Amino acid sequence: MSTPLLRVEDLLLYYRAGNHPVHAVDGVSFTIEDRGQAVGIVGESGSGKTSMATALMRMLPKNVESFRGSIQLAGQELTTLSDDQFRREIRWKKIAMVFQGAMNVLNPVVRVGEQIAETLIFDGMEKKTALARADALLERVGLPAGIGSRYAHELSGGQRQRVVIATALVMNPELLILDEPTSALDVSVQAQIMNLLKDLKEDPGISMIFITHDIGLASDLCDSIAVAYAGQHVEFGSADRVLVEPHHPYSSLLLSSLPRLHDPAPPVPMPGEPPDLTHPPAGCRFHPRCPYAFAPCPVIVPPEYRVEDGGHARCFLNDREIAGDRYQIHLQATIDA
Ligand code: SF4
Repeated sequence: MSTPLLRVEDLLLYYRAGNHPVHAVDGVSFTIEDRGQAVGIVGESGSGKTSMATALMRMLPKNVESFRGSIQLAGQELTTLSDDQFRREIRWKKIAMVFQGAMNVLNPVVRVGEQIAETLIFDGMEKKTALARADALLERVGLPAGIGSRYAHELSGGQRQRVVIATALVMNPELLILDEPTSALDVSVQAQIMNLLKDLKEDPGISMIFITHDIGLASDLCDSIAVAYAGQHVEFGSADRVLVEPHHPYSSLLLSSLPRLHDPAPPVPMPGEPPDLTHPPAGCRFHPRCPYAFAPCPVIVPPEYRVEDGGHARCFLNDREIAGDRYQIHLQATIDA
């Protein structure tokens, strides 16, 4: 078996907040098998998606209480690297990130081409070569020639987001993390950015972690999907399977909350509110909102049950002995929806 491009195992990240730790990332595991593959991390706000991404970039806030687990990039364990080694060898060079809202914080007084070239110049490249590389990157992300000499305020929202993506690609990273990269864009521009990301997956074969609250959008780009809830990944599997046959009620409810083009039925709003991560619910964290909750759910933590595509789901419905015919009822409800 070949070495996966990214293997995250049992990642844990707690912050200090008052007297209680915030369980921002709590035992998260997933893999990206090959170059050019994308995993979508989907879930509501406050589910720990962005914390997981900042843990991968090792851009941790000062109030970290615990950070442990394993992160392997192409077989190299990253968690044992010193901060200095990580900064010199990994961050931006092998793993880069497009932060949420980054298109709104481009430097207003520096031409966009120069902003991209700055990183290369800092890394020792001669200025003229760096500017030429910036221009080539801007063209690669679909911007017209010469746009590098313009300022951010002269560009549209979609153009600024392309500049931000080009900036993240400047050091040829193997893995690109994108945090809600289309959330501030209108639908037609969103589609153009999604097409660009698909294109970059193909050539040069960049692997991606795509963070979004929109499971439909994730399925358009991603090969696999991790469903995040209250600091955990409650389901992981191929995008095709999760979309059609989710094995966790939270995934099913996320799908039901999407508007559908050819379905006159209105989307079903998600019941309840995400939990406070300083006091996550006992047992299954989703049990206060789950329409299928039964006896073991509030008291026993469900394990990660393997599902047929090699993924996993943290829900007792996947244990026929415990759940009886409840699993079939959930599955049928999902198919009927
Ligand atoms: Fe619902 Fe129980 Fe499954 Fe949790 S373990 S998602 S409460 S059925």
